[in-house]
Amino acid sequence: MIHEILPVGPLQCNCSVIGDESTREAIVIDPGDNIAQILGLINKHQLQVKQIVITHAHIDHVGGAAKLRAATGAPILLNQNDYALLKMLDVQAAWIGVPTPGKVEIDRSIGQADRISAGQIEGQVIHTPGHTEESVCVYFPLEKKLIAGDTLFAGSIGRTDLPGGSFDKIIDSLHTKLLALPDETAVVPGHGPVTTIGEERESNPFLKKL
Ligand SMILES: [Zn+2]
Repeated sequence: MIHEILPVGPLQCNCSVIGDESTREAIVIDPGDNIAQILGLINKHQLQVKQIVITHAHIDHVGGAAKLRAATGAPILLNQNDYALLKMLDVQAAWIGVPTPGKVEIDRSIGQADRISAGQIEGQVIHTPGHTEESVCVYFPLEKKLIAGDTLFAGSIGRTDLPGGSFDKIIDSLHTKLLALPDETAVVPGHGPVTTIGEERESNPFLKKL
């Protein structure tokens, strides 16, 4: 599997470009900004983007999605219950002081157990509400890799004080869904360094046994 991680935008959201080495089909997860660089990676690996997956509707994750869709023709996938947040991208832009990215249209809603695929690569959507109303993570079982959005970080978890956030829900998502994954699962968080489920199970203060 081709996997490039590119931190994009002022908040350095980790955008993932995931491609199948044989069919050259690809998925882009969380193209928040810097679409020219993302397209550069796609060209470098000679990939064809089949799906644009958004873990949640915060501007630093979804801000570049419409531009990437226009450039590649790939559909945008996001849980429909994050649509309310998506409609306030201009407000979110003001929060972090960036220009508004304009309207982002969603082509398909994704939820628990939905499949995301590019060639032979298959990811499973894990529904992990808490950071936003309907955040999702994407798990690639064969590669034992989790794209965690802003639900889990190395040593921390996503903030829950923004609209749609819930501390109780994120704790429940982490304990019932993410800690159910094998320890060796590599975790690519929405921001910051990569980690593993085992490492976080052992040392993340939010994941201590309840
Ligand atoms: Zn976020």
